Amino acid sequence: MTVLSGVAQTQAKRLQRLGVTTIRDLLYLFPRRYNDFSALKTINQLEYGEEVTIIGTIWETKSRRSRSGGTIVQSIIADGTATVQATWFNQPYLLKSLKAGRQVVLSGQVDAYLGHLVMNSPEWEFLEKEQIHTGRLVPVYPLTEGVKAKWLRRFIKRTVDYWTKRVPDYLPQQIRESLGLLDLETTLTQIHFPDDWQFLERERRRLSFDEFLLIQLGVLQQRQVWRSRPGRALDADPALLEVFAVSLPFALTAAQKRAIDEIVGDLRQSQPMSRLLQGDVGSGKTAVATAAMLMAIASGAQAVFMAPTEILAEQHYNSLTSLYQPLATTESPDSSSLRPRVRLLTGRVTGNEREQVYADIASGAANVIVGTHAIIQKGVEFQDLALVIVDEQHRFGVEQRAALRQKGYNPHMLIMSATPIPRTLSLTIYGDLDVSTLDEMPPGRQPIETRWFLPRERERAYSFIRNQVEKSHQAFIICPLVEESERVEAKAAVEEYKRLQQTIFPDLKLGLLHGRMKGQEKENVMAQFQRGELDILVSTSVVEVGIDVTNATVMMVEGANRFGLAQLHQFRGRVGRGQAQSYCILLADTPSEESVERLRAIERTQDGFELAEVDLDMRGPGEFFGTRQSGMPSLRMAKLSDRHILEEARQVAKDIFERDPGLEAPDHRLLARRLAEFWQGQGDLS
Ligand code: ADP
Ligand code: MG
Repeated sequence: MTVLSGVAQTQAKRLQRLGVTTIRDLLYLFPRRYNDFSALKTINQLEYGEEVTIIGTIWETKSRRSRSGGTIVQSIIADGTATVQATWFNQPYLLKSLKAGRQVVLSGQVDAYLGHLVMNSPEWEFLEKEQIHTGRLVPVYPLTEGVKAKWLRRFIKRTVDYWTKRVPDYLPQQIRESLGLLDLETTLTQIHFPDDWQFLERERRRLSFDEFLLIQLGVLQQRQVWRSRPGRALDADPALLEVFAVSLPFALTAAQKRAIDEIVGDLRQSQPMSRLLQGDVGSGKTAVATAAMLMAIASGAQAVFMAPTEILAEQHYNSLTSLYQPLATTESPDSSSLRPRVRLLTGRVTGNEREQVYADIASGAANVIVGTHAIIQKGVEFQDLALVIVDEQHRFGVEQRAALRQKGYNPHMLIMSATPIPRTLSLTIYGDLDVSTLDEMPPGRQPIETRWFLPRERERAYSFIRNQVEKSHQAFIICPLVEESERVEAKAAVEEYKRLQQTIFPDLKLGLLHGRMKGQEKENVMAQFQRGELDILVSTSVVEVGIDVTNATVMMVEGANRFGLAQLHQFRGRVGRGQAQSYCILLADTPSEESVERLRAIERTQDGFELAEVDLDMRGPGEFFGTRQSGMPSLRMAKLSDRHILEEARQVAKDIFERDPGLEAPDHRLLARRLAEFWQGQGDLS
């Protein structure tokens, strides 16, 4: 659709920060909430504390300085029943706008000052044929620096008025009617400027349905594309894996064996595998991956193991090397073809060393390559790449697959995730993947003791940490989530780190980790912590993913009420990885009802799947473990807990796809176009 016109360059840039470059983006920039200014009252009816709208004439407007040096603009408004005073702070230009005699509409909360009812900083606009900012359900949009609420609202109103009737409805009428869904024009008009709350539910339903449908259709197409490419059947005898299983320092769990069987079954097909291996933190996904890679190398091919960070890649390199160690030295002739030659490739591998790794990958001298996305960059040529394993799926995904495919490889793909996904959901979001689940923990794991502390028990938590450190253990302290920005969050973390280091633990060694640090700095701190050179790591939520410090026994989370369940579960998974009893301490300042429910759930169970179900029921729109990062279009309206709508959309998508996979029928053409746009920039809809 048309690129925004009639907007100055600078403003267009700013809108881009809100993700808006086209008219369509603007139409789909949904309000975050609505102010209900639909209650119209006369001034003599006003009551303290209520949200109202009044219409009146300006009697006079004055301005004066406040004691702190700001400007205060005050107007007296009359409507024939009474007068009320309205006040605005630090908007000196209002003195000129709010001229005596003009008719205005004011919306906002009624306040009291020195015994009189007043309105402080109400929304206002001149009385027009149609009100936008007052006197109705007023949309509240996300803003960014330089984009003012009123400007954006007016701009969207203009766009909505002109464009919604020109946007064709891509959803075939028959589907709409059979499900009782609103048409697109009404939906897009009403979602921005609703006539009443009731309507709003119907618009949300239509928009959520559309999102689920487009996701489903895209996923079904992807699956078909992916499957139609010829892959390489890995024909090594799976019995070879027995040698490996015996060489391990532990017995595989039944769940691990099952997952390995499923994967091996896929690898033997000439259709490339596309499988998700999900298993809670600590369920032993690495061992499964290791077995899968052996199948590849025993068939004479190469395997890649990708992790989201250098630290994790190095961690994997070390565990792979040690898991493979016995094989490297076995003399049995059976196992000679099983000899893994592992190389590490990350951004830290440079110069000659890097050249050597490249050469080994190209010649096949290396058959297992562990690393970050450095592996799929330009310059890396494989001799015979047949299997790619991606750890912690939410950092990798569709785009990486596409990158590999562009290099002409069409490998089997295994994606591993520690974020448990309930089955209904995984079928939808990851409908292009088959799923294996590790639903069993290796034996002998000690449950992590989880306690929710009150703020006044903070000192107790600190002495508990001190106590653990005295026993040569280590601890994490997570700073509360600050929504505003990473910059503010980093600043808060620095402050907290200083406070803890200077006043609480002056004799201990503390480290700091936050999102504004450079990659290298972060890695250094993590490495120090891993080597045991730090007693306590103070961190923002960046520490979340897969890090393995077996000596850490305490995870203390400040402001635990602000984190989502999945995140808390991930934090907790950072401890309890060694022999020692581990603890998770949650501190919550003023938890809302909803966060109380979350905290109770996390206290109650350590089962990631159970938590995921609870989470799913509680989540807001589009927040489920960063769908965006996984290469999925983000959900703007649909809540994953809208299972009923999800199910409907799934069914419709299936029907459409079965009858017309290419969306070529006349009444599917618009849908095909919308689908392409929806997935645009997501990389993989070949
Ligand atoms: P995750 O699924 O979180 O990636 P890992 O693969 O890192 O888990 O495994 C966690 C720990 O459990 C590792 O130290 C690993 O050696 C160990 N482990 C894996 N499988 C088993 C098993 N079957 N029995 C005992 N320990 C195991
Ligand atoms: Mg792992």
